[in-house]
Amino acid sequence: MSLDISNIAKSFGRFPALQDVSLFAEDGEFLALLGPSGSGKTTLLRVIAGLETADQGSVRFRDENLLAKPVRERGIGFVFQHYALFRHMSAAQNIAFGMRSKPRAVRASEAAIKAKVEELLALVQLEGLGGRYPSQLSGGQRQRVALARALAIEPKILLLDEPFGALDAKVRRELRRWLRDLHERTGLTTIFVTHDQEEALELADRVALLKDGALEQVGTPEELYHEPASAFVFDFLGDSVQLPCTVEGGIAIIAGAGVPIVGARPEGNGAAVAHLRPDGFSVASGEGAGLAARVRNVLLAGPDARLDCVLDSGEALEVRVDHAEAGKLSPKDRVTLTPKAVRVWS
Ligand code: ADP
Ligand code: MG
Repeated sequence: MSLDISNIAKSFGRFPALQDVSLFAEDGEFLALLGPSGSGKTTLLRVIAGLETADQGSVRFRDENLLAKPVRERGIGFVFQHYALFRHMSAAQNIAFGMRSKPRAVRASEAAIKAKVEELLALVQLEGLGGRYPSQLSGGQRQRVALARALAIEPKILLLDEPFGALDAKVRRELRRWLRDLHERTGLTTIFVTHDQEEALELADRVALLKDGALEQVGTPEELYHEPASAFVFDFLGDSVQLPCTVEGGIAIIAGAGVPIVGARPEGNGAAVAHLRPDGFSVASGEGAGLAARVRNVLLAGPDARLDCVLDSGEALEVRVDHAEAGKLSPKDRVTLTPKAVRVWS
């Protein structure tokens, strides 16, 4: 085991920002730390990096106690969302900064630093742009310079705190693939913080989901998506519809329709909340067992067609269906929506 985080707790005043967090990363693993804003992601990275002191717990790397080491000796590179580059320095000077600020005795020669900068510029695909100032680079290019600067100290661990958070969606998606590729080439143990579930599921070997300073579930993207341990995990990882139901003998009764429950079964019978994705409904014309609704709008732009419906109870519900199915329906049609399967947590 490479990075071993055990029982970390950290409070700010009386507010518990991290509660008993234990997490490991294998050598070379790409771990995503996912969670809503305020769940403690940045605090955990800052504890690992040494910018914050934990109240309790340990962080070990290859059996060395990291928390006992000064920040500079931890071998950690980090990139933060708002960790701006030095504006008065060129990209190359930014990247060289860490190497040039070392004490003279351990500092590399100027020729070696220049060669290293060129190598890093090539690694982050910014060859020839070393002379540019941050204001002359795009947002995505600036974050790649920040990454090169973090890699310049030859870290063993890379901590990335929402590095693409300030960039627009298309650039983010491009950089995601690029980052995964860079990770394959450098093989560094990486913790990538994001509040974007799609980014985490696409990038990471494993995802750790934080809620209110505690880990809710840790697993591969597939495990979290297909075997969510709690309603919170399910709802956080994708669009989710919640419906009142009654559990009876292992099935959920929703508006008179009996619906199978997948995943862990709730204990006992009675009123509960059923969770499903918007594409988990069958849609029939007219009345039947299930949720009676009126079609308000049929939205055909996109890979899935969407039906914007209003339930007879007055609530709006948007479901996703095949284009073929949506093509048969028009606004004002009466339909019955029946969940095909649901998840229920007790
Ligand atoms: P995230 O990165 O997941 O959005 P943070 O780790 O930044 O969350 O913050 C977790 C919680 O701790 C938040 O409620 C935040 O307000 C609080 N917090 C973080 N840093 C401090 C601080 N220096 N002083 C007081 N409260 C803080
Ligand atoms: Mg944060």
